[in-house]
Amino acid sequence: MALIVQKYGGTSVGSAERIQAVARRVVETVKAGNDLVVVVSAMGKTTDGLVKLARELSSQPSRREMDVLLATGEQVTIALLSIAIQELGQPAISLTGAQVGIVTEAEHSRARILEIAPDRVERHLKEGKVVVVAGFQGVSATGDRDITTLGRGGSDTSAVALAAALKASACEIYTDVPGILTTDPRIVPAAQLLTEITADEMLELASLGAKVLHPRAVEIAKNYGVPLVVRSSWTDDPGTWVVSPVPPPRSLTGLEIARSVDAVEFAVNQAKIAILQVPDRAGIAGQLFGALAREHVDVDLIVQSIHEGNTNDIAFTVNKQSIERAQAVAEAISPVLHDHLNPIDAQVLVADDIAKVSIVGAGMIGRPGVAAQMFKTLAEAGVNIQMISTSEIKVSCTIAATDCDRAIAALCQQFEISTSSNEIDTKYITAPSVRGVALDLDRARLAILQVPDRLGMAAELFGILAANNISLDAIIQSQRTRIIAGVATRDIACTVAQGDAADAKRVLEASAAQLGCGAVVVDESIAKVSIVGAGMVSNPGVAAQMFTALAAAEINIQMISTSEIKISCVVARSQGIDALKTIHRAFGLG
Ligand code: ADP
Ligand code: ASP
Ligand code: MG
Repeated sequence: MALIVQKYGGTSVGSAERIQAVARRVVETVKAGNDLVVVVSAMGKTTDGLVKLARELSSQPSRREMDVLLATGEQVTIALLSIAIQELGQPAISLTGAQVGIVTEAEHSRARILEIAPDRVERHLKEGKVVVVAGFQGVSATGDRDITTLGRGGSDTSAVALAAALKASACEIYTDVPGILTTDPRIVPAAQLLTEITADEMLELASLGAKVLHPRAVEIAKNYGVPLVVRSSWTDDPGTWVVSPVPPPRSLTGLEIARSVDAVEFAVNQAKIAILQVPDRAGIAGQLFGALAREHVDVDLIVQSIHEGNTNDIAFTVNKQSIERAQAVAEAISPVLHDHLNPIDAQVLVADDIAKVSIVGAGMIGRPGVAAQMFKTLAEAGVNIQMISTSEIKVSCTIAATDCDRAIAALCQQFEISTSSNEIDTKYITAPSVRGVALDLDRARLAILQVPDRLGMAAELFGILAANNISLDAIIQSQRTRIIAGVATRDIACTVAQGDAADAKRVLEASAAQLGCGAVVVDESIAKVSIVGAGMVSNPGVAAQMFTALAAAEINIQMISTSEIKISCVVARSQGIDALKTIHRAFGLG
């Protein structure tokens, strides 16, 4: 007899009829010989409705009271579904998060699960009951045992965490689409269903805007090896499996917070090329990376950000073996990119003695302190950071090759990792180069201008944001320095959630002058469009293809950031949907 956890999202329980349909599936699953725990969301758009009500009373309602309010949505569904299941003759019992013993941090509206006491659920299962659990909610461990919620979309996380705690044989997420598709079918109806996706790819997609799964649910599935599938609640089709290698055994205490970093990785023999002050217009990145791809230069990290004077710097890293070819391409194309206006040698910078160090781990999702800790550790070890590139599950810094050993030792010590590993480039070679495309309309761009170019500045700035619980991604430092009052300065840009942008600006401005930085600028009219695919690691032309497609649609790229398995471009918000459609088509995913 297998134990299965099923989770039904808002639309799947949106009406009495839908709840009856769920009850019938539940009973069928039990009749097939399974023990069953069912996690449900609030009905339909109930949670949105409750948020709106509160906003009518206050522009900044207390987060504690919001949790008390929002947790009611799920409580309605558990009772109704239990009634519907009992009506079919199957014993069932509803339990709130607190009754199940889903214990969380006291961080209201974004609490992480600390542990789940399985006893009560197991007792009811033994009695032959289906246990119906309210998703999205828990109870705080400390103080007054207050009601907490896990963050919007958090029922997925409740379900996978329960599956991990109960050692269930599978966690099935039922929703209103047939599974995970190449992109959001609401925007691109031609999106294709995937039969499987790796957990790393799904983590990136989920954090880059594909809300079909909560990224923290994917994180738990990956860490605890929970077999996870996304299926339609309307059909019996097989859906999409999220696959990951079997993880080493892991304690269930501190479930979501025990370990933020799983590995320290490095790559030596790297070189960096930067092309400075190219005009800010559509097509530049496409031309450059197209030319590199034609010469079979495999590019690793790419960063591009707009800077003062409305020109862009584009920097990328390559393996040292390709440095001559890469430099030749860059120098040949630089005058073209610059409209033959500037002397070439001032515009192409080459550094051929660099290394890349990275921290990796699903546990860093939504935990801004982890990246800040990395920067601080490097600063304390006297290691200057040249380029930073982040994804949800990885932060990579390029540094001088001579600093590499020291950096690795300091990071391993800080994050309690016993051995570092040399990054293997071919580990995903059989995966498709682009698995999916995502659009995030919820980001704002934050730039800190004229940051003094001295050791520890990234640690200071991102430490301030982390202390205020503001997560950011796609951190980019300009390659060019500007001398302000005798001090070399660089601009730093990143993207943050729109809801955090005003806070981020406020806290940074409070310290900027003291740290010697210039203005803090926020732009909310952006969209981030990203491609994700583990196979892009070994496929030189992918970036060029994305940039060229955007150029052909006359979409200007404002910012580029990459990790091994994703490339993100910031574009004007008004062009976001167009950009998504263009890229989806360009990679033949429709
Ligand atoms: P639920 O209420 O069941 O949790 P959500 O609305 O949270 O459902 O997530 C399902 C929605 O995610 C789909 O209706 C779809 O519009 C959206 N979505 C975005 N990207 C993708 C994708 N790549 N594959 C499938 N669905 C996606
Ligand atoms: N009801 C909550 C929300 O709408 C949680 C969830 O559906 O996953 O965000
Ligand atoms: Mg959801």
